[in-house]
Amino acid sequence: MITIKSHKEIELMRQAGRIVAGAHALVGKLIRPGITTLELDRAVEKYIKDADAIPTFKGYGGFPKSICASVNEEVVHGIPGKRKLLEGDIISVDIGATYQGYVGDAAVTHGVGAISDEAQKLIDVTRESFFKGIAYAREGYRLSDISNAVQTYVEENGFSVVRDYVGHGVGKKMHEDPPIPNYGLEGHGPRLRQGMTLAIEPMVNVGTYEVVVLDNDWTVVTTDGKLSSHYEHTILITGNGEPELLTVI
Ligand code: MG
Repeated sequence: MITIKSHKEIELMRQAGRIVAGAHALVGKLIRPGITTLELDRAVEKYIKDADAIPTFKGYGGFPKSICASVNEEVVHGIPGKRKLLEGDIISVDIGATYQGYVGDAAVTHGVGAISDEAQKLIDVTRESFFKGIAYAREGYRLSDISNAVQTYVEENGFSVVRDYVGHGVGKKMHEDPPIPNYGLEGHGPRLRQGMTLAIEPMVNVGTYEVVVLDNDWTVVTTDGKLSSHYEHTILITGNGEPELLTVI
């Protein structure tokens, strides 16, 4: 069941979203060659706790850390650790914060120092595919209109869309209905309504869309070892056309 949020709930989600956005801004400043993914995790955890919020991911399904840090061929759910970032890497950072019972969820992929033209194009196309998708995040459109717009833009640019992981409704829980694929035909699924809060999150690969989970039971990687990128915001379907991005400052 897709929940419609009240004004009060939406205000709490805005506050959760601002905390997530602030944590992402912090990560953006910290990322450089030589820093470990664990250092990023610790900084974000402190930032979220200092904002009187809870790192949503820590303990979720047993996930051990506060952020997901997925480097290069890692798609999502990378576990922060001692790995040092190297010049030329790309890193997808996914952050969730729960504030007074409501969740904000957003992901950004960064280049570490100077990166290849292909890596930069991947990051740019992934981000832009999100905005192509949310052009349809308006009352009256159907959910798969977003999915189709993401897939079309990604494939026009020669990349592929991950099938095995999808976006989701978000609110009191991180994963609520509906699941939101980043692929599919337009004109299907529920009609979008004011008060829905959705995490739209294209995961885009340079090569095949096929992915596999590593032996740590978490980290998802591309089967061909090529790069992957992720971009996500929590958005609100509004009554005035434009969606509101909740995870931006
Ligand atoms: Mg998400």
